[in-house]
Amino acid sequence: MSECTHECGSCGESCGERCAPQDMRKQPHQLSHIRKVIGIVSGKGGVGKSLVTSMLACLAQKNGYKTAVLDADITGPSIPKMFGINERASATELGLIPATSRNDIDIMSLNLLLESENQPVIWRGAVISSVVEQFWTEVIWGDVDFMFVDMPPGTGDVPLTVFQSLPVDGIIIVASPQELVNMIVEKAVNMANMMDIPILGMVENMSYLRCPDCGKEIKVFGESHVEETAAEYGIPLIGRIPIDPGIASLCDKGRVEEADSSCLASFTDILKALHEDSYKKDMTPFKIAVSHKDGMVFDHFGHSEEFKIYTFVGNDISAQEVVKTNGQGHGAIVGFLKEQGVGAVICGGIGGGARSALEAERIFVFGGVTGECDKVIQQWLEGTLQYDPDIACAHHENGEYHCGSDSPCGSCGGCH
Ligand code: ADP
Repeated sequence: MSECTHECGSCGESCGERCAPQDMRKQPHQLSHIRKVIGIVSGKGGVGKSLVTSMLACLAQKNGYKTAVLDADITGPSIPKMFGINERASATELGLIPATSRNDIDIMSLNLLLESENQPVIWRGAVISSVVEQFWTEVIWGDVDFMFVDMPPGTGDVPLTVFQSLPVDGIIIVASPQELVNMIVEKAVNMANMMDIPILGMVENMSYLRCPDCGKEIKVFGESHVEETAAEYGIPLIGRIPIDPGIASLCDKGRVEEADSSCLASFTDILKALHEDSYKKDMTPFKIAVSHKDGMVFDHFGHSEEFKIYTFVGNDISAQEVVKTNGQGHGAIVGFLKEQGVGAVICGGIGGGARSALEAERIFVFGGVTGECDKVIQQWLEGTLQYDPDIACAHHENGEYHCGSDSPCGSCGGCH
């Protein structure tokens, strides 16, 4: 065993000194910037977890937050159907692209990848959690204020493993009155405690039915105990949703965004507080290195003697500096960029070997770029950067390589 650093969160050894679980969470896709992740859990299936996920996401979107839904209910994925999304997800060489609902919520679900949405999914827990992990690491979510995760139902192994792979900032418990609310809540509380995740609130679904004639609340499943339970565990009660044939019909028609979410309005305050918090401390700096010479993009990655490194916090450049590589050849440069914590490279020409080495370190490559570094970075921010996704070497002229150096490129197999 190597020497103990007492950093249990990043250590895979099982020893008697362990004081915190190993952190299994993965980094999201490099082109994703997700501020807060909210998991929606329930004690069992069919209590309206997906409905509540969708309604809360719509509420967030209505309040002006950029919102996404990751459907982690892999064996019963119903989010795309509720939003009326029928097309398949698409992919580029950089990653998977989520589908977008009519009200501009980005969605990824297994149903968007299956040949037919009626195909049964009979996978075991480990496979399920690896799919969810891919939805986190390989989907290009872009800039997201709130990501809602429709968790697998229950409080057992599968949701627990999924929780371990995603950096969930808080959970919301959905329960129906006929469930043994106390027991469900206790299990969810234990799970949240194990994972050290705060419980943001509870929603009671199918609380009552309103008589269409006299407006009286009919307690179909008996008296609700949700208020006492919420108070007992110190969890805010976000709201109670009635049994409403109108809601069921909107879900069936794929128009959940039209469901009346006024009964969940108190959630807006929770969102506001989380959002302020995310701006205070969750803005992870992101670095882009541009191969640099005299203010311009240098056209030969492997011969770059310096890079201009831009650090972003959100969409703002918080720092920029020109740094010398102190070495040449793509091996040395890739190591250098990794040490600098760079997440993406913008350069002119680049060879296949260098590109693979960067991508193996999860550093994205935007090659074939020309122009002034500062202008190029502005174009990257605006999404208008012109680059060559198939770049292998700098200049293909008449089928020959001319890398700009004195070497006889015509006989080379591609430069680095
Ligand atoms: P879960 O995700 O917990 O399995 P869903 O959200 O998919 O459950 O809900 C199951 C079904 O019940 C859906 O068809 C949905 O339309 C319906 N449903 C859920 N809550 C309500 C409600 N309050 N009123 C009417 N129908 C509802």
